[in-house]
Amino acid sequence: MAEALIAGLRGYPHAGRLTLRFNQRVERLVSQAGRVCGAAGVDEKTGAPFEVGAEQVVVAAGGINGGDLARVRQNWHRDWRTPPPELLNGSHRFADGKLHDATAAVGGVLTHLDNMWNYAAGVHHPRPRKPRHGLSLVPPRSALWLNWRGERIGPQPLVSGFDTRRLVSDICAQQRQYSWQLMNKRIALKELAISGAEHNPSIRDKKKIGFLRDILFGNRWLVKEMVDHCPDFVTASTLPELVEKMNALQGDRAVELAAVKDAVEQYDATIARGASLMNDEQLRRIAALRQYRGDRIRLCKFQPINDTRALPLIAVREFIISRKSLGGIKTDLQSRVIDASGQPIEGLYAVGEAAGFGGGGVHGLRALEGTSSVAAFFQAASPRLPSTAKPRFPGLRGQDEENRSLADGVRPRTDRSAIYLRIPGVHTTELYDALNNSNRITQVLVTHEGGGRSWRMRSGASRIRSAC
Ligand SMILES: Cc1cc2nc3c(=O)[nH]c(=O)nc-3n(C[C@H](O)[C@H](O)[C@H](O)COP(=O)(O)OP(=O)(O)OC[C@H]3O[C@@H](n4cnc5c(N)ncnc54)[C@H](O)[C@@H]3O)c2cc1C
Repeated sequence: MAEALIAGLRGYPHAGRLTLRFNQRVERLVSQAGRVCGAAGVDEKTGAPFEVGAEQVVVAAGGINGGDLARVRQNWHRDWRTPPPELLNGSHRFADGKLHDATAAVGGVLTHLDNMWNYAAGVHHPRPRKPRHGLSLVPPRSALWLNWRGERIGPQPLVSGFDTRRLVSDICAQQRQYSWQLMNKRIALKELAISGAEHNPSIRDKKKIGFLRDILFGNRWLVKEMVDHCPDFVTASTLPELVEKMNALQGDRAVELAAVKDAVEQYDATIARGASLMNDEQLRRIAALRQYRGDRIRLCKFQPINDTRALPLIAVREFIISRKSLGGIKTDLQSRVIDASGQPIEGLYAVGEAAGFGGGGVHGLRALEGTSSVAAFFQAASPRLPSTAKPRFPGLRGQDEENRSLADGVRPRTDRSAIYLRIPGVHTTELYDALNNSNRITQVLVTHEGGGRSWRMRSGASRIRSAC
């Protein structure tokens, strides 16, 4: 994707004007007489300072959910009580909010920073490359989701792919804000997946046969890699042995064998009663998901946990893992950064995750899974640069509203060619429609490798899959 982007930039008619500068860390924005006219920072290799001038400056530095996670903790949403003591980093080290501060220093407004998209099933990276480096599991839906004591979280059981924010809320509401997922090897082979290109080489390298093999026969290498190297995975052939290992991993006796046995026995007994008597919400959801072929192929059919044909048992200790910022730099509909009086700051724009994917909060509290990259591209392509140019996408009209922030709940007027941007409860499918109808960009596959429901664009050419 990066190569395609660079090739696209190099193919631009005025590519001669383009300079790519790597390893240059921007630390502040330069402004003169109220207009932003450049950026300054240091060369990370040599430490030499630099300053560049520009007619227009676009902040596209990503969100605040990475770095040392200080911003995540500072802006922890009140719905989630206090930040968990153990929090993993699922973003990148440059997503540290430094350019948010630089934007604020020239008068830009930051908003909705507590709207963030974190995940419930983070594990420690087996080969960490940064402090608290985490991997976000796509949590197997046939696994039992237990709290720190080993009790099934409820009364509404946790099942991934329906309401990711609720998973985080329910786990953060527990006395200890981490959880366990209990499964067996058969479930793991069929359903375990990890978000990100690193653990989905067949998709990343477009290897169709490898992809099909993993779907049909189970993701053996991934399960082996995690069982052998991830510190949060333990396996055993009996429940007592498994609970011993869970407690050894945590370093105390918090997990109660009786609680785990009770959860497993009740669940397995419900399955044994047969499909017509499965009065368990998790099983009902599995049944509903299996109606769709795309889910059925990656979802076990009512698999009991303590099944001698499916051993070993696997328990995974899971932490909350940070990912994306849904708030950020406040902008108007042309992505111009807004100051405290509601006026655009001359020469300054913010796009992508830095602007919470638009305006400083276009998504509201919840991201529609898999749409972040699309929103980032869409928005990056759409700012009006310079201000006399026409918007590139018909959907981002609404000049009458242009000085107001999307985050404030703008409902731009629309005509037949325009899209609606309703907030809260953003109708991202309308963004897809605008993308789909655009002949200016090539559609890309934005996928979460773990699967989930999919939305097909009108042309049928592109698919946005759930959960990222
Ligand atoms: C593991 C993982 C999996 C994901 N999976 C999906 C998915 O399946 N679908 C989906 O839609 N989204 C997914 N996302 C989210 C998506 O990747 C991001 O939301 C999106 O890339 C944001 O794009 P952006 O251009 O706004 O910012 P980024 O991609 O974060 O880019 C910001 C850039 O700015 C640079 N930068 C930051 N600070 C400075 C500075 N001070 N000076 C100079 N440069 C700086 C950074 O180095 C970086 O190159 C995933 C994210 C992660 C981490």
